[in-house]
Amino acid sequence: MGSAMSWGGGGFGGGGGGFGGAPGGFGRPAAPGLPFAGIPTELQGGVDGLLASEPEHPAPDVVFNQNGSELELKRLTLWRLLTKYRGMLALAGLLVVVISVAAQTGPALTGIAIDDGMSPGHEHFAVVAILAAAYLVFIAVTALAQRLQVKVTGRLAAWVMNDLRVKVFAHLQRLSLGFFTEEKAGVVMSRMTSDIENLQQLLQDGLSQLAIQALTMVVITVILFATDVRLAAITVVLIVPALVVASLWFKRASERGYDRVRDGIANVLADLSESLHGVRIVTAHNRQRHNVIHHRNVVGDYRDANNYTAHVNALYGPGTQFLGVVGQAVLLAIGGEMVLHHTLKIGALVAFFLYLNRFFQPIQLLVQQYNTYQQGQASVYKLRNLIDTEPEVTESADAVELPPIEGEIVFDHVSFGYDPDRLVVEDIALQVAPGETVAFVGPTGAGKSTLAKLVTRFYDPTEGRVLIDGHDLRDVTMRSLRRQLGVVPQEPFLFAGTIRDNIAFARPEATDEEIFEAVRTVGLGDVIDRMPNGLDTVVHERGQTLSSGERQLIALARAFLAHPRVLVLDEATSNLDLQSETKIETALDALLENRTAILIAHRLSTAMRADRIAVVDQGRVTEVGTHAELVASGGRYAEMYATWVRQSDLAEHAAADGGR
Ligand code: ATP
Repeated sequence: MGSAMSWGGGGFGGGGGGFGGAPGGFGRPAAPGLPFAGIPTELQGGVDGLLASEPEHPAPDVVFNQNGSELELKRLTLWRLLTKYRGMLALAGLLVVVISVAAQTGPALTGIAIDDGMSPGHEHFAVVAILAAAYLVFIAVTALAQRLQVKVTGRLAAWVMNDLRVKVFAHLQRLSLGFFTEEKAGVVMSRMTSDIENLQQLLQDGLSQLAIQALTMVVITVILFATDVRLAAITVVLIVPALVVASLWFKRASERGYDRVRDGIANVLADLSESLHGVRIVTAHNRQRHNVIHHRNVVGDYRDANNYTAHVNALYGPGTQFLGVVGQAVLLAIGGEMVLHHTLKIGALVAFFLYLNRFFQPIQLLVQQYNTYQQGQASVYKLRNLIDTEPEVTESADAVELPPIEGEIVFDHVSFGYDPDRLVVEDIALQVAPGETVAFVGPTGAGKSTLAKLVTRFYDPTEGRVLIDGHDLRDVTMRSLRRQLGVVPQEPFLFAGTIRDNIAFARPEATDEEIFEAVRTVGLGDVIDRMPNGLDTVVHERGQTLSSGERQLIALARAFLAHPRVLVLDEATSNLDLQSETKIETALDALLENRTAILIAHRLSTAMRADRIAVVDQGRVTEVGTHAELVASGGRYAEMYATWVRQSDLAEHAAADGGR
């Protein structure tokens, strides 16, 4: 006990010594040194035991194949997913049969016990006792089999879902940028969440229940006919047609209901997600009240859909039970008459009634499970469509490794349109020498970013070729290409994690020295010093807690650390203060040194730093040259420059007037 207390006091004693709180929490001097001094001896045994029973989780050996492995490319079907685990599937099937048969022995044994152990002239307690024992054994077998079946199907479902999640995610990693631009992020998310969950439900419970209930119905029907053909035939004629009609109605009504419920929840989530993402605009434009009213309507539709399914369920469940009771009343009269005329034994009648009771339950469950099955199948269909989506940019089968490059980029009469019928850039012929920086300038929508996307092979040209060191990008592996390319997008994306993780994103193995060098080079040092935990400060989702200038500097450090030969940089358009702008421009100078770079410049001050400038206008490169050449030629660039100089002068004068 003593040592446990000292561990508690020294280690966490009110944050005493360890966390710099009041020294000597609990009135004792704080233990010096680190707050956690090890595991107390009396707990060590428990910890060792826990560790010994921990399953090993070796680092997964992942091979990512850009074109997808043969197995991954097979058509997605429920059957194919399941048959990968043949052993577990066979065991689950066997258990389903055992449960369906063993669970139905009770009424038969009861009937025999009545007729051969209790009826007048056949009083044998031994028979009753043996049958009771057999009943117990069968119940025990059923319970055991059920326990095992739940475990096996649970495990099977877990593995299948695991495979499916990895398969879909790997496929998403392979898809081209075009897919993510066209497809709503919410739709892709719902494939990975609600569709996969639907399938999980089906696999975990639905399929086995469907099989058990269907088999139980068959077993009971056979037993009913074996017990008494006449009574069974009367049952079929009397009850089954009404039951079929009710079940068909329920199937249709509940399908409609579940469709409404699905749409309802999708709308609720979409509305919620939109208002969360747009919270700043919502607040700024005072739309809260309007949003609450809208959300109330959406939630109201969802509530109505749920009410409808509850109504349908309330009609079907008790309705079929009522049918059963009416049927039983009629059969009681008919069966009773048979017993009185000694054409049916009393035990057989009791067994028949007990089975009849059990006959309705599987039908109800079967119809309900059918919904789960349908939803699961619909999800398989949607996931299959997703997996069948081919990446637009593919790696050719004989793609070669791009050797270390010098960095020459050639646009060889390149034309491209996101929609091939509507070209966005046309007949671009441009050569960027190794180590040269070329800035693309031009009006918004001219096609500057599109040209950059062609260099990084996010898209392939519709016509012409993009060459790096003479290699057509379509002939080299994407991995070897992108390893030598650096991309800094307009809106840098920061991942959840520390600043260090974000900087070392392209090279997680980078040493601290290298990270510090990147930080120093782009001038991020001051920013890091201001952070509470330096490089280990955790950035929140997408770096929202950082300023846009800080985010850009981190993205530049990330690109610097990757040491790419070719850099494609989309300059941020956000307005930065003069100090941050100067900082970023200095960082850019450091980054562009000795590298081939394509710089999409939104500010002429940035463009002027490039070796050459290409003016892009309506999808064509209209002028190329150095700043001085273009100004001298008196073309479009000269016009843009003159406007910029005029505006800068005006701004300077205004500032000077304001200062006076
Ligand atoms: P900005 O200076 O505003 O960034 P930009 O010159 O970089 O403009 P691009 O982004 O290359 O322009 O766009 C060129 C044209 O292509 C625009 O008309 C744009 O609407 C269109 N476009 C861009 N991306 C797509 C896309 N994913 N699908 C369809 N059209 C697109």
